[in-house]
Amino acid sequence: MQEQEIMENKNGTCQLTEESDVDVNISITNAQSQATSNKTNWLNGQCVVAMPSCSVLNPCFDLSQCHTKLENEGFQIPAGDMEAPLRTALDIPSVRRYMVFNSALFRFIMTPVLYIVVWCAVFSTLHLYISVSEYWLLCLSVSLVSIFFTTAIIFVLHHSNKKINMNLDVRLIQVNERMVKYKLLVAVGDWMQNCTGNMQLYFVYWDISRCLSALAETLEECSFGANDTQNKLKKKMSHLVLVTEVSAVDPEVGESDVEQDMDEQRPLLRNEDTASSASSSQRENTKITTNYSLVPDASLSAQAKAYQLLMTYSAVYVKLLVSERLSGSSRHRLQTPTNHCTTAPFCLCQYVKKQIL
Ligand SMILES: [Zn+2]
Repeated sequence: MQEQEIMENKNGTCQLTEESDVDVNISITNAQSQATSNKTNWLNGQCVVAMPSCSVLNPCFDLSQCHTKLENEGFQIPAGDMEAPLRTALDIPSVRRYMVFNSALFRFIMTPVLYIVVWCAVFSTLHLYISVSEYWLLCLSVSLVSIFFTTAIIFVLHHSNKKINMNLDVRLIQVNERMVKYKLLVAVGDWMQNCTGNMQLYFVYWDISRCLSALAETLEECSFGANDTQNKLKKKMSHLVLVTEVSAVDPEVGESDVEQDMDEQRPLLRNEDTASSASSSQRENTKITTNYSLVPDASLSAQAKAYQLLMTYSAVYVKLLVSERLSGSSRHRLQTPTNHCTTAPFCLCQYVKKQIL
């Protein structure tokens, strides 16, 4: 059977070609091998897919479209490793509300409101105690003080937004634990662009092997001062707690597909040894809410600790990477052998070292 197909060549002009079934099969095979070679062509830090939020007031992401786009780029990911954990992490009303009230657009809208509130508060306070003949002088002073206060508050909010976020970045740890097997890391990026909010779900290519061995090596070097390192980790990470609900009847449900052979590949949540505190347990509808500390256990190997640390900071690192907020001096922009990222001043393992070691 012969079939006709209109194909567009590279110059954009259309030409009529005849293609047999054999040719079609060959082209499909070529497309598959192209997809595989595309995957190998990716470099650490390159954005594979960026999916904008469906709505400003109710942030959600079209995960089936993400899946299709990733497949087109050569990443075959089962729904159980991508869509299901992403829904668990982000598709919850309280998380969506948090995303709205913590978004760059909300802060942008609130800035003039904050300025007016501060202006009124300062003016009414000064007006009570200071009587000035020059009314414009009072208004000018109040305006200057209000600008100073508003700028300070915005600066603090902006700075705190660069730190790891308990409600988004920590929730995405479980997603990244699964995605890293496919050499991808996920994060929610959010910033202002042309006076509009730009909240997107990013899938960034990341081969973790070099970061893992580099960080494990560093932790091994620190092993002579193991107590100091552990105390440092506890101090820097004690506030990081992963809250999760597990079934009271059968907490092992859904864990059969987990690779348990390597310590560093064991997901954090199911690693009972690393959960140094399972502090609060609350029985509700046969679900137990459990808090897991994200501080790596002292008994773990350097490799397992390195894996846990990389996963913990993966979402916040990718968030800063895609929004170009990884601050580094110009000399860091030069590619160094220790930087495993081609698009940022420093890579994930260097970020973790900078944050906690
Ligand atoms: Zn690295």
